[in-house]
This record gives sequence, C-alpha cells and structure tokens, in this order.
Amino acid sequence: MPRTAPATEIGIVGGGPAGLTLARLLTVRGTPVTVHERDAGPDARTQGGTLDLRPDTGQRALRAAGLTEAFARHARPEGQDMLLYDRSGTLLYREDTPDPAPGDAPSPQPEIDRADLRTLLLGSLPPGTVRWGHALRDAAPAPGGGWRLRFDDGSTAEHRILIGADGARSRLRPLLTPAEPHHLGVNSVEGTVPAIDRTHPDLAAAVGRGTYWVIGDGDSFAAQRCTDGRVRIGLSLRGPADWPTTCGIPFDRPAEARAALLELFADWPPTCRALLAASEGELTPRPFTALPVGLRWPHRPGLTLLGDAAHLMPPVGLGANAAMRDALELADALAAHPGDRGSALRAYEDEMFARTAEDAARSDRMIRLIHSPGGARGVAAFFAPDGPAAGDLESSVA
Ligand SMILES: Cc1cc2nc3c(=O)[nH]c(=O)nc-3n(C[C@H](O)[C@H](O)[C@H](O)COP(=O)(O)OP(=O)(O)OC[C@H]3O[C@@H](n4cnc5c(N)ncnc54)[C@H](O)[C@@H]3O)c2cc1C
Repeated sequence: MPRTAPATEIGIVGGGPAGLTLARLLTVRGTPVTVHERDAGPDARTQGGTLDLRPDTGQRALRAAGLTEAFARHARPEGQDMLLYDRSGTLLYREDTPDPAPGDAPSPQPEIDRADLRTLLLGSLPPGTVRWGHALRDAAPAPGGGWRLRFDDGSTAEHRILIGADGARSRLRPLLTPAEPHHLGVNSVEGTVPAIDRTHPDLAAAVGRGTYWVIGDGDSFAAQRCTDGRVRIGLSLRGPADWPTTCGIPFDRPAEARAALLELFADWPPTCRALLAASEGELTPRPFTALPVGLRWPHRPGLTLLGDAAHLMPPVGLGANAAMRDALELADALAAHPGDRGSALRAYEDEMFARTAEDAARSDRMIRLIHSPGGARGVAAFFAPDGPAAGDLESSVA
C-alpha cells in the first residue's frame, strides 16, 4: 500500500552537501524540514574523495550552522599540499602547508573527506529528518497548492515549498528550465589505492600529504590523499561522451581495465603507472558535464534549486563550496522574509544566479586550461603567477 509521508512545509530532495547544509541551517533557525534521499541509508555507497572548503563559501555555511568545531575535528589542513608535474616528470609547482604553531590562524581552505562532511551534517540533524530510500520519480503542482512528490517505492509526499538539491541529474530541474548538462569533451576514470602507507610506502611518499598531479598534453593524472590511508586516483582523458562504452576498456572487469589503462599511460611518469597498478577494486569511468554558464530561469512559486542541480560546473574545486553557500543564502533569504516565501525564493535566486555565474565561468576556464596543450605550465602559472612557469594564462587556453 503506497504511503504518504507526513508533511513539513519545506521538503528538500537530495542529501548531498547542498541539501544537508540547508536542512541543518533551517533546523537551527526553528524550521523543521524533510530531506528525501535516494540512497537506502547513510552507508549505501562510498562517498568519493576529498573537498577543500573555502572560507567565504563552504566554511561560512558551516559557521552559520554552528559546526565550526565539528569541521575542525575532521579537517586536514595538510591536505592542501600539492605537487604539480608536467608529463616529462618536471616539477612545476609545489605547495607545502606549514604545520600551524599554537595560536596560529587555521589554514584557509582545509580538505575534508566527503564522507566525513556527510557524517557531520547528518549527525547534526534531528532523527527522522532524512527519509532514506526516497528516490524521487517526479513532482507536480498539488491541487491545494504546493507540490506533490512521487517516489520510486510508490510512496508520496506533499510540501508547500520544494527545494531541489538532487545533483547533476536533477529530476526537479525540468520543472524550471529545459537546460541539460552538456559533455565537456573530457571523461575521468576513478580508482582507489587502499592503506597506501603500509602497502606502498614509496608511493605514499611520492603523493605526500595532499595532491600529486601530472598534466600532459591535454590529459591528466591526479592522486589525492584521504583520511583513512586511502589515496583516490583520477585519470582525466579528452574524448567524446560515449568514450566509456566505445573505448574498448572493459570497466566491468577491473583487472583487465587496469591493464588496458596501463597501456594507455605507457609513456607517463613511473609514479602514475605505479599508482594505477597499485589501485584495487573498481575503476569507474565518469563523463565530465556542466550546465550552461550563467543559467537562470523564470521564478516559479514554491520551487527552487540549489547546488549542482542549479549550476553543475566543471569539477575543479568550486561546486561543493558553491552548493553550501547556496544553502546559506537560501536560509538567510527565508529568515529575512518571514511569511513571504515567494519574495524569499526570488531574492535567493537573484543572488545565486549572479554569484554562481562567476564561479561557473572560472571553472570553465580552468577545465579548458587543464586539458589544453601546455596546460601544465598554464596551471602552474595560475597557482604561482610570479613563479618560473608563469606566462600568459589566457593565451595558453585552447
Ligand atoms: C571528481 C570530482 C571532484 C570534485 N572536487 C571538488 C572539490 O574539491 N571542491 C568542491 O567544492 N567541489 C568539488 N566537486 C564538485 C562537488 O562534488 C559537487 O559540486 C557537490 O557534490 C554538489 O553538491 P550537491 O549537494 O548539489 O549534489 P550531490 O553531491 O550530487 O548530492 C545530490 C544528492 O541527491 C541525491 N539524489 C539524486 N537524485 C535523487 C532523486 N531522484 N531522489 C532523491 N535523491 C536524489 C543523491 O543521492 C545525492 O545524495 C567535485 C566533483 C567531482 C566529480
């Protein structure tokens, strides 16, 4: 028998950084919410790699949510270390995060594992806020006002205000705009080297405490340290959207896929190849997609989007930060317009459209730079404008 969940006025679809941050912010301000999340439970899938949270966006939202101390317990300032090489193995840029002395200001944008961020946000919500296993199928205006949601398990829910925080392939976005993510001409393959310090101390030393990154002739290889001794590797390769299925690499047979990728990376630095060989388990292909820069839509009463659902950007380190800042702006707008939800959603959307258009344009320039000929020097110059690799950043964008 299909169930109808009891309603809170505000319903959020999606329990990622955007949806959970908003749920926490509204809860501490006295507005109960329901988060409908597709995952069957908090541990239903691995949460991927690490995020650097910036002072004005991700950290600012956590501060407003009263979670600064919890964040500090999980944050890894040393995770900002970076070693950037070109494909010949020349070190072009190095960042070493100083160990803070007692009384020092915290480092500006420490890393946090995505799983730790989710755990800390989930732990800050009243029990029952998140409805697990609620994969939204569709939503439509409810006869008495508000929105009626139908889920894949046959259950339904109604909310006066509906917030789509359901990520890149949002089911709610089509209610506001026909825009869809387009492929960026790049695909990634992601994998994991577990317990690297114990199993491969030489590779652990090569990766260091943060990111080891090689950029070569339009493709790139990155290895990023996570909390529990894992290192996440990510290979980004130029190619069409159907590359994962047409490239001939059998991603459903990880050992064979690894061998095929090692062949593809035959002339890359030995550390890249050794990290790829040391990876265990699945190698997961993922197309890089983005929504159009500067996307906006006409306001529709009682419905809005935040995070990747609203402004999916190339993955160069701004998306989660923008998503959490969206949550803060929306919570602030709702508080600033008590009793007038329409004005609140309009004010939020006006600010969000302007702010994230800039982030999206910067992310677009950066992904093109990384995947252009000479990208390694261009990226090094971006990080150290006065350093030895400095040149004309714009002129090295293909
Ligand atoms: C490889 C990679 C590295 C990145 N690194 C960084 C970084 O360092 N810094 C940074 O700021 N950003 C980074 N990003 C971007 C960042 O991951 C996203 O911008 C961020 O996760 C967006 O948060 P969100 O909550 O909007 O969406 P998501 O994180 O995608 O969360 C959406 C949630 O909605 C749920 N959901 C989806 N569909 C439904 C449905 N139909 N019904 C119910 N629930 C649903 C999902 O299960 C998920 O929990 C990276 C992205 C990638 C791909």
